[in-house]
Amino acid sequence: MLAPSTMLSLRRRVRARALLFSLGLAAALPAQQAGTPRIERPRLVVLCAVDQLATWVFEQAEPHFAADGGFRRLLREGSHFPACAFRHACTETGPGHATIGTGAPARAHGIVRNAWWSENDNRVVYCVEDLVAPLPEWPEGKVRGPGKLLVPTLASSLKAHVPGSKAVSVAWKDRGAILMGGIDADLCVWCEASTGNFVTNTAWAEKAPAWLLAFNQQRPLDTMFGTVWERIGPEAAYAGLVDDRPYEIPHGNGRSQRTLPQPITGGDTGPGAKFYAQAYASPLGNTVVRLLAEAAIRGEGLGADDAADLLCVGFSATDAMGHGFGPDSVEARDGLLRLDRDLATFFAFLDQQVGAGRWSLFLTADHGVGPTPEWARTQGVDAGRGLIQTMVRAAGEKALLDAFGPAPEGKRYLAHVGEYSCYFDDAVLRGVAAANGRDEATVRRQAAALVANAAQKVRGMATAIPNDELAQPNVTGDRLRASLMDSLCPGRAGDVQLVLKPYWIDGTNAATHGSPHAYDREVVGLAFGPGVPAGVRFAAPITPGFGAVLFARLLGIPVPTAAVDELPAGLLGTR
Ligand SMILES: [Zn+2]
Repeated sequence: MLAPSTMLSLRRRVRARALLFSLGLAAALPAQQAGTPRIERPRLVVLCAVDQLATWVFEQAEPHFAADGGFRRLLREGSHFPACAFRHACTETGPGHATIGTGAPARAHGIVRNAWWSENDNRVVYCVEDLVAPLPEWPEGKVRGPGKLLVPTLASSLKAHVPGSKAVSVAWKDRGAILMGGIDADLCVWCEASTGNFVTNTAWAEKAPAWLLAFNQQRPLDTMFGTVWERIGPEAAYAGLVDDRPYEIPHGNGRSQRTLPQPITGGDTGPGAKFYAQAYASPLGNTVVRLLAEAAIRGEGLGADDAADLLCVGFSATDAMGHGFGPDSVEARDGLLRLDRDLATFFAFLDQQVGAGRWSLFLTADHGVGPTPEWARTQGVDAGRGLIQTMVRAAGEKALLDAFGPAPEGKRYLAHVGEYSCYFDDAVLRGVAAANGRDEATVRRQAAALVANAAQKVRGMATAIPNDELAQPNVTGDRLRASLMDSLCPGRAGDVQLVLKPYWIDGTNAATHGSPHAYDREVVGLAFGPGVPAGVRFAAPITPGFGAVLFARLLGIPVPTAAVDELPAGLLGTR
């Protein structure tokens, strides 16, 4: 652990670098064209991430949202972007939140997965691990920070260009809060499930904010201990969904049951780590984040004056419910119907606290999700699961052994296979090149082709593509290859990219994401606030980074440097 003084100077260095990006490279455009009515700038803009909310999941649930719910309000009073999709293939939480905060694909923002192999560290590194000291009040908030994020966020642009502005990011997941906010946010806050505390650290705060201390002292999640999770919607809201399916993971209360209703206790006699784990895979995990967002708005005075502020909020629990029970489960549907009500409450709070017409919001997701493979198979779809990457590792290693002979004692050719990528042990390949008098690049190319060829034969694999092959000009306009390219950040993305067959998954979750397939890349996109027309569906394709661009234009500040979206005509008074 570095000393706190080193931490601070590290933080300043990173801040200075982000500021250079922000000031030097982007240019502001006028927020509206001459002759169109002036749009009142909001006092608060909100980037809202609902983890794992795929377009298809949203569309199936949409008829069942309450007339006075949050989603219906956004659809009625705001604009819907049904063609919202990630450009990158690495549809995971870290990359997705980084895109929402920066407007950039993974290739540019550098968060290529939740975790990746680091040659330097000789281990897998986590996307928000960082040499940052904790605050004394929350020792559990250590070694978390935004140091791996390579480009500035909307918060950077706001702080650099709007004097007196504030930027705060809150989520259940550390990587959700940290990667949406970035180093220039005034505060990033996340849950440490070991203690149930919502914490920050010295990357953002020199001392614990009083409002956050008070929030934790009130133990809002603990007051929900023993809540019985039961269906909130009418019977019709769950039509076609089967509650008890053998591939669902049981509710974590020790009863081994997969149906509602269920008490949320963690199987314990009082609040503790087991309860927090079950709460996270239930609607309580979203409700407490809504309470945290409200406390942050009050505590930091967000939206209280004319200097515009930013709040990023990440509802992470939808992801845990989707993984555990499947996005096609009664639980996941109910989780969305309950979030719909939490959103309505949150929006009413914003109307009252900030003022109706004085706040804007963009709601999207960090990634989508595929249906449970077992369910897909009942529909006649080629679907399945297995330890696919474990098999790929064995097949790839064998192909290299057959070609080059045994790796040196205690070494393997493949240093790591995981999160849909194979990483070579560079030193071992250098050894092969030296021993055979060949140049290293040629050996690498040969090795990558051998691994890709072996990987493709593994059951459940669609294709495996060496990076150097991806870098060839994309003459066919192949969407799959383009999305893999948008995931490649040198030194982090591995050497051979793995694509599973659609509807095939690796592992024991009921369902998951992480592929370049449409169900993982296509996510909800809803915008609301001044300059956003009511009840309009925009056909224009956007990415989940659209909110960062929309709000920069709305506030008349430079868009974050690496953002890729453009505003379609019809927004912010444009024609
Ligand atoms: Zn997930």
